[in-house]
Amino acid sequence: MVKKWVIPSAVFAVMTFGSVAFAHYSLAPDGAMEAPNSIKYTYALPSGSDISSIPTSWRSAIANATSPWESATGNAVAISESTSSTLKNRIYRTNLGSLVGETLRADYDGDDIIDGFHVRYNSGYSYYTDGKQYDVETTALHEWGHVLGLDHVFSYTSHVMYDGYTGVKRLLHSHDIEGINAMYSAN
Ligand SMILES: [Zn+2]
Ligand SMILES: [Zn+2]
Repeated sequence: MVKKWVIPSAVFAVMTFGSVAFAHYSLAPDGAMEAPNSIKYTYALPSGSDISSIPTSWRSAIANATSPWESATGNAVAISESTSSTLKNRIYRTNLGSLVGETLRADYDGDDIIDGFHVRYNSGYSYYTDGKQYDVETTALHEWGHVLGLDHVFSYTSHVMYDGYTGVKRLLHSHDIEGINAMYSAN
């Protein structure tokens, strides 16, 4: 059984498919992150009564997974960890049923442009940083794609934005890069 990634239906009622004929990528219907030419976002790894915190040993893997996306955009996009406890952008573990990971996107300032996110790992699964299933960095790379505004592709299993876990992927496919460049590019 292929374990599925998901963008929750509460955020997206319809998953788009095949919006571009040649390159295999799909843009989320609610679009890119706000301020697409100078995006600097930070995230926190909090703990709380209803969520489980991210192990310290995962932190570098999660941070490393931002680099391929940042590089693909010529660093128009930058995402980094902050230790601020007040950040709304968060990564944590929670019960996701049979899902490997999940991204929730938010419009915190109410201008109809996405400016926030939660990334969730499944508290019922084991994750590893040495390449064993499930790989922390692989999961993060996929979920960062959602944070930035990419939807799933289907059938193309070599793509980071494929909707199932197929093993370690720590680099973007050229079509993942085309997808992110459809939203962001270096000035
Ligand atoms: Zn996904
Ligand atoms: Zn492709």
